[in-house]
Amino acid sequence: MSDALKSDSLKTPRNVPRNVAPVRILKKPGARGADEQNPTPMGERRTACIRTFGCQMNVHDSDRMRRMILDAGYAEVQSYEEADLVILNTCYVRENAVDRVRGHLGELNRLRREGRVKKVALTGCIGASDESTDLKHQYGIDLVLGTHNTYELAEFIGLPTMMETYTPDLPGTEGERSAFVTIMTGCNYQCSYCIVPTVRGRMVCRPLENVVAEIEGLVASGTSYVTLLGQTVDAWRSEGRRFCDLLERVSEVAPRVWFTTSHPSNMEDRTLHLIGARDTIVKRLHLPVQSGSDRMLRVMHRGYKAERYRRKISVFREVVPDGTLSTDIIVGHPGETEEDHERTLKLVEACAFDSAYIFKFSPRKGTEAAELGGVVPPEVVQRRFLEVLRAVEQNAFARNQRKVGSIEEVYVRHGSTEDGKAIGETWSGHAVHVKTDARRGDYVTARIESAGPHVLYAGEPLG
Ligand code: SAM
Ligand code: SF4
Repeated sequence: MSDALKSDSLKTPRNVPRNVAPVRILKKPGARGADEQNPTPMGERRTACIRTFGCQMNVHDSDRMRRMILDAGYAEVQSYEEADLVILNTCYVRENAVDRVRGHLGELNRLRREGRVKKVALTGCIGASDESTDLKHQYGIDLVLGTHNTYELAEFIGLPTMMETYTPDLPGTEGERSAFVTIMTGCNYQCSYCIVPTVRGRMVCRPLENVVAEIEGLVASGTSYVTLLGQTVDAWRSEGRRFCDLLERVSEVAPRVWFTTSHPSNMEDRTLHLIGARDTIVKRLHLPVQSGSDRMLRVMHRGYKAERYRRKISVFREVVPDGTLSTDIIVGHPGETEEDHERTLKLVEACAFDSAYIFKFSPRKGTEAAELGGVVPPEVVQRRFLEVLRAVEQNAFARNQRKVGSIEEVYVRHGSTEDGKAIGETWSGHAVHVKTDARRGDYVTARIESAGPHVLYAGEPLG
């Protein structure tokens, strides 16, 4: 176990009970139900619009809220102008995410003054942060909820009140071809730059049987692709079992399975072997490295060295030769020198990532890194960002070129667009544009005709 995992000094986020037992949803006696709920005074159906910012966890949380608003008799609409209630489900990981939300709140205030939007709710990671108090007053927000008390939305929209200790057991998606399944919430690490442990709390894992039962239900109702979610999904453990055991069980139940996000300190070799061995697991590994410099990794409290990360990658490349590898990299963390940056570039070369999310460091109030000296000037951050981006893209382009001419089975993730192309995914985890009118969840087989740094292009399906 890494030091970060042993650490117990994280702040408890607002509204989060510590060491909570898994979920309980209880109806308060005498609470009003959706069927008793009144429509608008004009007798029309109420409408709600949900906007999601940030990661898959937030997309999944929005799915849960979507179910609540539909259960409460609201019709979902896509534009603010048509909505009685707007829910902004937010991200707090970088400052630009907050700036975007401020922009939306400003626009919503204008629509409220014009009498169009009636109520605004702010949920998600900003809702769990201290900054939400200022935002509530500044923009007159009607309801603010953090990530752990999303269930309070129920009472606000006229559903029976739900009390629960945490939300993952409230499934978000049902009967869809693809579904997110949260297996753990929170994070026990304390990376210098990261606000997630503050807004999402410490790690809580769902029991294996519970997860498997949910997936069996989803598959029975038509789900063909399950993505297991968690901030450090591979840190999952329960009753002596570890993530690899859970993945193995899930891969026996789900026709197609992927997982994100993993932490290098938790990634076991046996999990990498399992990815290679099991036909139902998508051969794509997202393993955020953050930096190629041991010095920076120490400052960031990542709990591993670059060499250990590289070793994991060489195991992955060996046991999953056709797999794809992606990562997260932060450039310009306080104290990052040219030498540290060079080491990151070397690691990018050595690992030959198929893609990477590259982030410019963004100081988050309340994190250790926000207080550190050695701030990197913006023009230096920009140059380093472009250098890392170029290195990643060169490698990715070269690797994608090798797929040209191959025949691939493609899972259609998004049905065909106006130009007649659907967006799909190979078993190796490559994104593919394919000329087909097949629908989401279908499989087609096609030849890869060309490739760019980010995506493969296939011709019409064969046969
Ligand atoms: N739990 C995952 C892990 O440890 O790899 C990552 C979760 S975090 C929401 C997603 C990514 O955002 C991180 O991997 C990191 O690269 C980036 N990130 C987090 N805080 C950041 C910050 N303050 N500035 C820039 N990027 C940040
Ligand atoms: Fe946890 Fe990931 Fe944030 Fe580190 S970067 S604190 S592991 S969520």
